[in-house]
Amino acid sequence: MSSATVSCNFPFSHIYVEKAVLDHPRTKAILARFSKSRVIEIGHYKDVFNRPRQSFTLQKTSPSLILAENTGASVFPGAPVCQDFGYDHFYYTSSCRNCIFDCEYCFLRGMYGSADVVVFVNLEDAFSEVEKLLSKHPVYLCVSFDTDLIALENLTGYVSEWAEFTKEHPDLTIEIRTKSFRKDIFQKIPSCDRVIFAYTLSPKEVIEKFEKRTATLPERLSAASCAMDKGFPVRLCFDPVVYFPDWKNACTEMVAEVKNSIDLSRIKDVSIGTFRISSEYIKKLRKGLPGSPICQFPFENHGGVMEYPDLIRKDMENTLVTLLQSLISQEKIFLATF
Ligand code: SF4
Repeated sequence: MSSATVSCNFPFSHIYVEKAVLDHPRTKAILARFSKSRVIEIGHYKDVFNRPRQSFTLQKTSPSLILAENTGASVFPGAPVCQDFGYDHFYYTSSCRNCIFDCEYCFLRGMYGSADVVVFVNLEDAFSEVEKLLSKHPVYLCVSFDTDLIALENLTGYVSEWAEFTKEHPDLTIEIRTKSFRKDIFQKIPSCDRVIFAYTLSPKEVIEKFEKRTATLPERLSAASCAMDKGFPVRLCFDPVVYFPDWKNACTEMVAEVKNSIDLSRIKDVSIGTFRISSEYIKKLRKGLPGSPICQFPFENHGGVMEYPDLIRKDMENTLVTLLQSLISQEKIFLATF
């Protein structure tokens, strides 16, 4: 299924709303879009989100929406398994939790017990936290970290809000990572060379089998071209590269398609990283998806991070680097190492 079919009309049949945010303007705007959903008032989002014995896999087929206030921190230092692209002060923020796309290898399956989508409506508090950091040093911030923010744009408008906030703060650079096809967003927001749109690219076989509801490879590349046409820097993320028997041919075909579809001289940079995940998260993924070839792979545990054995990992990395080196200058290629 293409993301086109879900990004606007994803049926949240049940919407849980914290009492404290019932009258929040964002709550009202969101509820107005879902007049047919059943709205249930709750005390705290964790009463629903953290309920014991939930099935992430089952919920994923029909998640509920939870509207809440984030009363804790919402900006965090970047995780070691993520790339910092040379920025000294690397953070991520979590204004939404969970994703309407459905990637089999998604770390959110291991991070959360619930597949329900949480939207924190008090975005201004995240802005304040970022401003406090900006008073000390420049900030590089991933705003689409534990969700795909573009896929939720019709619901939240948060991509637009982060882009406008970034435009007003010259020491802030944000990355918006996505597997979405959407292009209309680039008409809505002011162009800014500090708003980086980062497209995760995978071979056709991986998208079809393991990245349900996401955009096709041509759709992602077309959206990336559109972003560059509108003056935004674009990053191509070959990350995670997933192992399967025909991965080498599939990756070669993918890079050929990239080369034929996009002007690579205009790309800001590319990242390469093989699939990796915390040893704690993989336990939950394996339990929830016993038939998944990705999750059941016999990974090696390197200091709490599950990775492909060195021979496979290096072969995959070297293959991607070699394929891309002939197309993009070396200093624009970032390889995930930690
Ligand atoms: S797009 Fe990203 S956040 Fe969404 S399901 Fe896929 S891996 Fe997870």
